[in-house]
Amino acid sequence: MDLSGLDTHQKKAVLHTEGPLLVLAGAGSGKTRVLTYRICRIVEKKLAKPEEILALTFTNKAAKEMRTRIGRIVGSTAAHRMTIATFHSLGVRILREYGQYIGLKGDFKILSDHERIAQLKKAMRHSGKTIARGKPQDYGVAISLAKNDHLHAHTFDALTPEERKTAKVYTNYTKLLQKQQTVDFDDLLLLPLRLFHEHPHVRDAFRQRYRYISIDEFQDTNTVQMKLARIMAEPHGNIMAVGDDDQGIYSWRGAKITNILRFPYLFAGCNTIYLTTNYRSSEEIVQGAQGVVQKNRERKAKTIISHRGSHDPIVTYRGDDEDDEVQWVVDQVYEFHRTGQYCYDQQALLFRTNAHMRRFEEELRLRRIPYHIHGGTSFFDRKEVKDILAYLHFFNNQEDELSLQRVLKVPDRGISAASLKAAEELCIERSCSLWETFLRPRDIHGLQGMQCEKIGEFASFAQPYITAFQKGENLAGLLDKLLNHIQYRETVRKIYGKEKSLEPRLANIDELCHAMDQYVYTAKKKGSSPTLGEFLQHFTIIKGQETDQGSGLTLLTLHKSKGLEFPVVFMVLLDDAVIPSPKALEGGGLEEERRLFYVGMTRAMEKLFLTYPKSKVFRNKSLEVRESRFIHEIPLEYLDAPPGEKEEEEFQEFSQNFFKEMQEKFSTP
Ligand code: ATP
Ligand code: MG
Repeated sequence: MDLSGLDTHQKKAVLHTEGPLLVLAGAGSGKTRVLTYRICRIVEKKLAKPEEILALTFTNKAAKEMRTRIGRIVGSTAAHRMTIATFHSLGVRILREYGQYIGLKGDFKILSDHERIAQLKKAMRHSGKTIARGKPQDYGVAISLAKNDHLHAHTFDALTPEERKTAKVYTNYTKLLQKQQTVDFDDLLLLPLRLFHEHPHVRDAFRQRYRYISIDEFQDTNTVQMKLARIMAEPHGNIMAVGDDDQGIYSWRGAKITNILRFPYLFAGCNTIYLTTNYRSSEEIVQGAQGVVQKNRERKAKTIISHRGSHDPIVTYRGDDEDDEVQWVVDQVYEFHRTGQYCYDQQALLFRTNAHMRRFEEELRLRRIPYHIHGGTSFFDRKEVKDILAYLHFFNNQEDELSLQRVLKVPDRGISAASLKAAEELCIERSCSLWETFLRPRDIHGLQGMQCEKIGEFASFAQPYITAFQKGENLAGLLDKLLNHIQYRETVRKIYGKEKSLEPRLANIDELCHAMDQYVYTAKKKGSSPTLGEFLQHFTIIKGQETDQGSGLTLLTLHKSKGLEFPVVFMVLLDDAVIPSPKALEGGGLEEERRLFYVGMTRAMEKLFLTYPKSKVFRNKSLEVRESRFIHEIPLEYLDAPPGEKEEEEFQEFSQNFFKEMQEKFSTP
């Protein structure tokens, strides 16, 4: 096998095939490349059959990519015989095969978020009246934490009254899941571990099956994942972990950066290799990012130099407001494409949260620039956005029955399918709209008294909004009022509780309100009076613009960008209230936010742009904002200009030119 594409340190790692190996190094130093090459070499040297190789990655996409890369070297047949998966999908495999030993049939089901809450509620009802009155989400979080800590229902230590309640629910919840042959997401890691502990022959089967274990992004493993890796690798010790403690960004999900730092102590005789050359990015990007992450106290110091050498400085841009920032960024993206310098596929926009993408999506759609969202759904296709827009569409046009039907379910207004059918019959008979029948529910044939009342209630709720929205005064305020009235946020909180998806869902709602705010503000600035109809039209046009799937410009969150690289990266909307995120700061997570910023910067190969607005629109007012403190941590020599001072320089240059021009103009006779 040709190892000429590797440097001395990388080669050393690839050639080390027996015993534990840790590769600890900064971003872009070739950790994933080394891991991939090493697997190929093991197979080529016939140290193991492809079936005996286990490679664990952080996402399914990363697994797929790794298989493709390995396939290019050893052939795709061999690559397909290997197990290249995430911890969770390996868990599914183990349970499908051996779950029977812990009472789980091969065709067990994995619970969705919704189903899990329903099961928790049931378990609570089985646990007594006081517990039944509690919040299922709270118990859900407590049980999930216990599971991540490797605590089963029967080993859960209940000391306080609260813990005793949790233990009860945990036990009943486990029984229910077992009875129904279902598991939750945490079980996919916890149950295989239990299997291994309770049934040594299953453990031995896996120990024999996988003779070489390699794990990428080890800094983001949790306790149970670490234990699983340890138990499988114990007899042969052929385990390789690669990672970078500076890129640990999932501690909020139970990941422990200490796992990677403790690796050499946990695996006796471990060989630790440090890689010191960054092959991905220019000098400016590598050192600029180092400058930031070095501010963290809890880290292992590393030296890293750029193989690519010096190129362009990191560019910062301060937009007058968010619109200006969006325009500027999209202009750059388009110019790179138009001039043939970088096609859309080579560029990426990175965001702190998914909801922030809306503003860019709008502009990209209007300009017909192809884009895709990596690992996410477009803002316009999210459930909350569709729910709220359904209300607005219906208030704007009562003939829009599709929207009305959706509105009737959010929240569920108890109007039965049979009643709706009866109302539709009347529509046909009278050639009127569904809404018109709602205004006179007594005319609907065969409607029960209660149903008649419910339709009447809905009509009296909706009518004032229809009138108010038609008047068009204070649209943003009306939307706020509506959301409070239907208790939309509360409903979302109730359904999704403390699930991971709750925060992004709430952020989508805020973002839609923000879109309305911004629309009203811009219309007024232009001197026109904003109307609901125009706002919706604007949205419909944008939504209707088709975007290419899977190709074009990539939009992704900082979290999802881990392990990836792009020639051109724009980190956008970097205001100090976005990154560091105030929520993360509450939990003392400044260092993790800084790591997230570092992960973002180190995705760029050639050009890195950091952009932020000078002001943001909030409640029909323009508020001044500050750029992220992390931008100030970048050593000045790697920036095009000190943040904030560039505008002053540009102004000086402009006024000098202007002065010169004027002088020339007036001095010529
Ligand atoms: P991250 O920490 O972001 O996951 P990494 O350490 O896993 O980064 P890789 O993705 O493996 O880094 O490598 C970064 C880039 O450098 C890739 O494009 C890879 O192909 C390239 N690369 C790695 N090693 C070398 C080398 N010796 N010569 C040339 N290019 C290399
Ligand atoms: Mg990598």
